[in-house]
Amino acid sequence: MRSEGALRSLPAHRMRHCRCVAALAWCAIAWAGMAIGTARELPEFAVENPAPGVYVHYGQQAEMTAANFGDVANLGFVVGSRCVAVIDTGGTYAVGRALRQAIRRVTAIPVCFVINTHVHPDHVFGNAAFVDDHPAFIGHVHLADALRRRGQNYLNALNRDLGDAAWRSAIVVPTRAVATSDDVDLGGRILQLHAWPTAHTDTDLTVFDRESATLWLGDLLFVGHVPVLDGNLRGFLAALTEVKAIRAKLAVPGHGRALAWPDALVPEQHYLEDLRAEVRAAIDARRTLAETVASVDVGRGQWLLYDQFHRRNVTAAYAELEWDD
Ligand SMILES: [Zn+2]
Repeated sequence: MRSEGALRSLPAHRMRHCRCVAALAWCAIAWAGMAIGTARELPEFAVENPAPGVYVHYGQQAEMTAANFGDVANLGFVVGSRCVAVIDTGGTYAVGRALRQAIRRVTAIPVCFVINTHVHPDHVFGNAAFVDDHPAFIGHVHLADALRRRGQNYLNALNRDLGDAAWRSAIVVPTRAVATSDDVDLGGRILQLHAWPTAHTDTDLTVFDRESATLWLGDLLFVGHVPVLDGNLRGFLAALTEVKAIRAKLAVPGHGRALAWPDALVPEQHYLEDLRAEVRAAIDARRTLAETVASVDVGRGQWLLYDQFHRRNVTAAYAELEWDD
């Protein structure tokens, strides 16, 4: 406002010149802002504190877009007396940084661990925001290999689809692998990690905070958002039977909110069981893949993002079950 006032008192040609200079200066400031990231901040990032030392950010139930910065998965952190453990970091550097800022509003103790529940981009690309903290990056024993195989394609797609909102997102491979189970000590607080046989993906890892009985399921649990099959249907259903037996007070799904445990798991279990039964029946009736994809619509109308993922699930189930006895 002040510069506009000063410009008004100048002759017209000088004013044009100054407007031009002012515009350039504004551009330079804006560019500098972009360069240091101020223009790439999430507009808001809410974190809930459902139990002492447990913090959860619920991502949007949406596909990753520039407008939402890839903030579509649930993330959070657990605070011990010595260390913070982060559980998933979001779909972009911007989400990871917002999560890191949320941690710093709660505590100044170091982030010693960044745990990824699986390979999907909406859960891992915020890792880059924690590199300077030098944590142990922890994942399923297959995660490093999965990131090497898929990571660059994920990153290319992220940059293509989100453009500037994907700024500084990067592949960060785990430095500590979990083959079956492992404990992480945050100082007077133990997190139990469990690596699963192929289910939602071949890199699924769950986290259980013993102190609060909070179970972080990653994408072994979808609530609202249609379940996604990118691993093995038989393994997914087997994993659900096992996780259901865990006595948790609070469950954090990869997407959506679990209002009761283990009841929150039931709709997903039904969807996957129905998917298996209908695809099995289609194969037995010698229907082609295309016919099966066109005809199997279990759960239609009951799930968010159904059109984006359901047909892919049918395709994956068909490929798996086609060669089953
Ligand atoms: Zn996933």
